[in-house]
Amino acid sequence: MSIIVENITKTYGNQRALDAISFTINSGEIVGFLGPNGAGKSTMMKIITSYIIQTEGVVHVNGHNVAEKPMLVKQSVGYLPEHNPLYLDMYVKEYIQFSASVHNITKNRIDEVIEQVGLTLEAHKKIGQLSKGYRQRVGLAVALLHDPEVLVLDEPTTGLDPNQLVEIRSLIKEIGKTKTVLFSTHIMQEVEAVCDRVIIIDKGKIVIDKKLNELKSDKEQIIEVEFDLRVEEQLLQQLPKLLKAINIHDNIWQLTFSTSKDMRPAIFDFAHDNGLKLLQSQLKNEDLESLFRSLTK
Ligand code: ADP
Ligand code: MG
Repeated sequence: MSIIVENITKTYGNQRALDAISFTINSGEIVGFLGPNGAGKSTMMKIITSYIIQTEGVVHVNGHNVAEKPMLVKQSVGYLPEHNPLYLDMYVKEYIQFSASVHNITKNRIDEVIEQVGLTLEAHKKIGQLSKGYRQRVGLAVALLHDPEVLVLDEPTTGLDPNQLVEIRSLIKEIGKTKTVLFSTHIMQEVEAVCDRVIIIDKGKIVIDKKLNELKSDKEQIIEVEFDLRVEEQLLQQLPKLLKAINIHDNIWQLTFSTSKDMRPAIFDFAHDNGLKLLQSQLKNEDLESLFRSLTK
């Protein structure tokens, strides 16, 4: 197991930023750490990366106690802080070389990382000339330099435009193929796009810790169907587990079922039994965004 967090509390004065939080992250997982502003995400990440010390509880990262072995933790973790300080007057490659000098890193490795994060064409530009998306790549490059097993990325996509967002997300996904990744965000779709698992925190407490597919199956199932003929709502009531039927237009219906079992075969049978043809049936994505909002109100 890569990250083991046991009963972590962090207080600032008399404010509890984290309140008895526990979770474990297995190696190879990409976990989204999701929560509204002020939930305690950055505080948790700073503790995991040995930048601040918890008030209570224990964290192990790759077997190292974060409070007792900060150097070993920093060697095995790559960290992209939320407000990543960059030297805007330095050239991209110069800055990465400068960061590399802290560790024992070869020149080859520097070029490798520059290529991995897609900075080859920007390597000789000043950081100040780069867009926010490219600056994030510089931060990622530095986090990856020492080839850590675990990556902790604090809101790596905040402030990026839609194209940059997609690029950084796919970069994280690519990196996640060989590493354990914990990244924070306040956007649910981001978790859906990148993660295997989500931990939602609110006001210093965990409100959900689940694999994404389990989270989805907890909820109602929505299927959009189109028949070849007009159907009365009355007739649709024959469908088992049907909660709601909304006529979108003409012969297209949005059907909500109170089950996680795929109901498309049942709809097919229904159409057949009633002399209808099913022109399309499409499983709609669950609205995880609304779940997130209801949990963190
Ligand atoms: P998030 O990253 O989820 O937005 P943070 O971990 O930054 O949340 O903050 C959690 C809470 O702790 C917030 O209420 C914040 O104001 C408070 N906090 C964070 N850092 C400090 C600090 N150094 N001193 C006092 N309060 C802090
Ligand atoms: Mg934060």
